[in-house]
Amino acid sequence: MKYIIGFFAFGLLAISCQTEKEVSVVVQKEMAKSSFEDSTKVKKTDSEWRSQLTDIQYNVLREKGTERAFTGEYWDNHTTGTYTCAGCGTELFSSETKFKSGTGWPSFYQPINTKNVAEIVDNSYGMRRTEVTCAVCDGHLGHIFNDGPKPTGLRYCINSASLNFVED
Ligand code: FE
Repeated sequence: MKYIIGFFAFGLLAISCQTEKEVSVVVQKEMAKSSFEDSTKVKKTDSEWRSQLTDIQYNVLREKGTERAFTGEYWDNHTTGTYTCAGCGTELFSSETKFKSGTGWPSFYQPINTKNVAEIVDNSYGMRRTEVTCAVCDGHLGHIFNDGPKPTGLRYCINSASLNFVED
């Protein structure tokens, strides 16, 4: 009996996870449509991404991984310049909107252009968060939280691995 209950519980869990994943994909497609037309998007095969990116860049951008806090290249970078997408070069964040969050990840209160990033509801790991991706190549960047500083009150918590930095 115990095994039967366990089996059903696992089945239900699997179904609910699947549903969240599907919802997330639908939202992603809607967001992608709203910001950039298909013709202007950067699309590459998995093997092209693998050969272009380093292991950590691939893990973050293409597999939605997260680098360990305080290990990335830019969390403590105070140089003036522009942060671009490590996947496709799109301008994402300015050093002017970077702030010290104490989290160990580069944190910004707004993107250079809201058109350049897409927001997706992320229900993974039992949490409801807002994922932020590059709107041009769909690369995973990080998450957005509501505990940022003025003027937006937002905190774009971004992986260094998904960024390149162009000094002014
Ligand atoms: Fe990109």
